[in-house]
Amino acid sequence: SQAANQIAAGEVVERPVSVVKELIENALDAQATQIEVIIEGSGVERIRVQDNGQGISAADLPLTVLRHATSKIRSIDDLNRLRTLGFRGEALPSIASVSRLEIISRPPEEISGRVLRIQGGEQREFSETGCPPGTTITVDDLFYNTPARRKFLKSKNTEFGQISDVIGRLSLARPDVSFTLKHPKVLVLQTPGKGNLLESIGAVLGQATARRLLPLSCSQGDWRLEGYISPPDLVRSTKQGETLIVNERIIRSNSISRAISEGYHTLIPAKLYPITILKLHIPPHEYDVNVHPTKMEIRFHKEKELMEFIAEGVRRTLLQARP
Ligand code: ADP
Ligand code: MG
Repeated sequence: SQAANQIAAGEVVERPVSVVKELIENALDAQATQIEVIIEGSGVERIRVQDNGQGISAADLPLTVLRHATSKIRSIDDLNRLRTLGFRGEALPSIASVSRLEIISRPPEEISGRVLRIQGGEQREFSETGCPPGTTITVDDLFYNTPARRKFLKSKNTEFGQISDVIGRLSLARPDVSFTLKHPKVLVLQTPGKGNLLESIGAVLGQATARRLLPLSCSQGDWRLEGYISPPDLVRSTKQGETLIVNERIIRSNSISRAISEGYHTLIPAKLYPITILKLHIPPHEYDVNVHPTKMEIRFHKEKELMEFIAEGVRRTLLQARP
């Protein structure tokens, strides 16, 4: 129902940045290699995400805005070996219930595409259209029918800052995909998508920063940690420079943040933070991610050993770099 969708929307799409993240993750799940995001204002005015992925068939398109119509899980078994970023089938119905939504899509093998327009959860149009292969989703007037939620939003700059931050993180998680962010005509970010992490870091954090970073790489049993960390004199006053990626999913983890600080030990004064882009590869059965609909929090089963492994990796990288 519309009410159930709006309640779910409160959980899944709290603010413009959550919409952007869900749409990009859908594009990634659809195997896109190029993703362009256009934002107007804070994102409340307009969010558009265009991808060159596998598209949505004419038969499936109207289903995408129905609750739990995910195409990604066929059985409970799938849940356990989940490879996709999305799996609840809640994002599009939630977004559709609190915006004016347009989905244009064409699977590459079809000659024409379809456009679906939804307003406040109700279908307004569904027809054939010419379009490039892939999917373009436009979300206009976010929260136009939920004024209470709209009032919770921060300033335009803050909301847009969160959007560019999350797109930066997603592009570091997937250096093999080219990301573009425009606001709305200004090119804010563009990554090459050639699979080179350091090149993507250069595009996101600047070439001067990228050049100074130290490569980190270590493994223990099935665990592998790789990425880049800053020398102790390249620090920031916020944790914004910390990107954590677990099996291609961007996450937040206080325990990993603490393990990283431990690795730097006394090398960095309090209230200053290193820049770290770390990718952890770990068997999927060794952690849980579905503790919250935004899927950002993660719980590791062998937490203590894993954190020692991470702290040690950081420590050794810094030791080796010493002149
Ligand atoms: P979930 O990602 O959890 O499956 P969503 O509500 O995010 O649920 O999306 C619903 C369905 O719409 C997806 O399962 C997928 O089949 C389809 N879909 C959404 N976005 C895209 C896209 N960009 N390209 C191809 N299919 C998409
Ligand atoms: Mg999804």
